[in-house]
Amino acid sequence: MKIVVVGSGAGGATVSRELSRRGISVTLIDKGPLIKPKNAHKYYETFQTGVEIMNTSCLGGTTLVTLGNAVRTCQRTLKKMGVELEDDFMEVERELKVTTLPDSHFGPGTRKIMNAAQNLGFNVDKMPKFIDPEKCEPCGKCAFGCSKDAKWTSLKYLEEAQKYGTEVVENTVITEVITSKGEVKGVKSFKKEFMADMVVLSAGAIETPRILMKEGINAGNNLFVDTFVTVGGLLKGVKFNKEIQMNALIKDSQVIITPHFSEILKEKLKQFKARKKDILGMMVKITDEASGKVTPNSVIKYNTARDVELLSQGSARAGAILKEAGVDPRTLVSTPARGAHPGGTAAIGDVVDKNLETDISGLFVADASVFPEAPGAPPVLTIVALAKRLAKYIVNERVNI
Ligand SMILES: Cc1cc2nc3c(=O)[nH]c(=O)nc-3n(C[C@H](O)[C@H](O)[C@H](O)COP(=O)(O)OP(=O)(O)OC[C@H]3O[C@@H](n4cnc5c(N)ncnc54)[C@H](O)[C@@H]3O)c2cc1C
Repeated sequence: MKIVVVGSGAGGATVSRELSRRGISVTLIDKGPLIKPKNAHKYYETFQTGVEIMNTSCLGGTTLVTLGNAVRTCQRTLKKMGVELEDDFMEVERELKVTTLPDSHFGPGTRKIMNAAQNLGFNVDKMPKFIDPEKCEPCGKCAFGCSKDAKWTSLKYLEEAQKYGTEVVENTVITEVITSKGEVKGVKSFKKEFMADMVVLSAGAIETPRILMKEGINAGNNLFVDTFVTVGGLLKGVKFNKEIQMNALIKDSQVIITPHFSEILKEKLKQFKARKKDILGMMVKITDEASGKVTPNSVIKYNTARDVELLSQGSARAGAILKEAGVDPRTLVSTPARGAHPGGTAAIGDVVDKNLETDISGLFVADASVFPEAPGAPPVLTIVALAKRLAKYIVNERVNI
């Protein structure tokens, strides 16, 4: 039994590790190279689509640039669809050592925001993280790639997968799947064919549907991105840009608000000669409508009227909290709308079944594409849990080793 996995991000590295440690022969193919995590910011791919969408193409995929946020998402919806993830979530949280950070890792800007939000009557929680506080020296650079290797990335699972025998092929773009009589037979790059008994696509929510489309599968619809803006203003000398980002959480059903610095704010505040260290900001992230679309050559994602309403409600709250925290309200500005969690483009119940299999026998998907709805919150734990569940399904139900 030979399985090819395409993509080494949250989904692909996990499924490779879980399969190979159970004795399956796995070849994992990624279009990106192996890099040092601190260089991940050089591998961003952005899509200017209305809402700007971000991901990274290198071994480890977009997990290299996360902020280490670790929350369960979509668990109830998935359970209703017959996808029970409780045991997998527990396994992931144990392996990634998910916990809130100690007080030593909360900087003055974050504390000001937390106190201000509490004064205004908001419930404020600490954000659970997969960051090791022993290794982390707060620098505000999680989204660039961690220079201390303090944050979990899927490279950790990838290294383990290699120890269990996974063969890793880097710098190789998979362009299509090879099929015969309704069954998968392998994948193709520009130069080479990789034959397999089963294939797992984990190329992320933009590239996976494109590969599926070539097989005539109606993928690429219902794209969501968890749209966000960062609102901020001047608070001289706060040095918030050097703090761990998104370390606290204010949540209601469709919107989360969390301390966040963006370099874009400096540009927006240039009339005040703002320095990075003088800016305090908050991210407003919404559960956006799945109104976008991936096509073979484009990505389309605009805000709907409901998205705009949620973003503006959240921004008003963020503005009030920042003012209470000491920001000069005359300086408040916002970034454009962006999205760091593309998903939904090969959704369960639409393109794949509850075992993540497409209509082509032996062709599975394990990445953010399979989400049935926008999580409105960090998706990595859920992607990893889904990938673990898939590996167990393949080993227990589909393979006779
Ligand atoms: C700045 C930022 C911060 C974030 N912070 C958090 C956070 O704190 N917590 C959280 O839960 N989530 C966070 N996210 C989101 C999270 O990183 C992604 O949702 C998650 O990594 C997606 O996993 P995936 O497996 O779907 O795809 P990816 O992790 O993007 O992996 C896809 C892989 O496929 C490869 N690939 C693509 N096309 C091909 C092809 N044709 N052939 C071969 N290989 C291919 C890519 O190189 C890549 O390695 C953040 C995202 C960003 C951008």
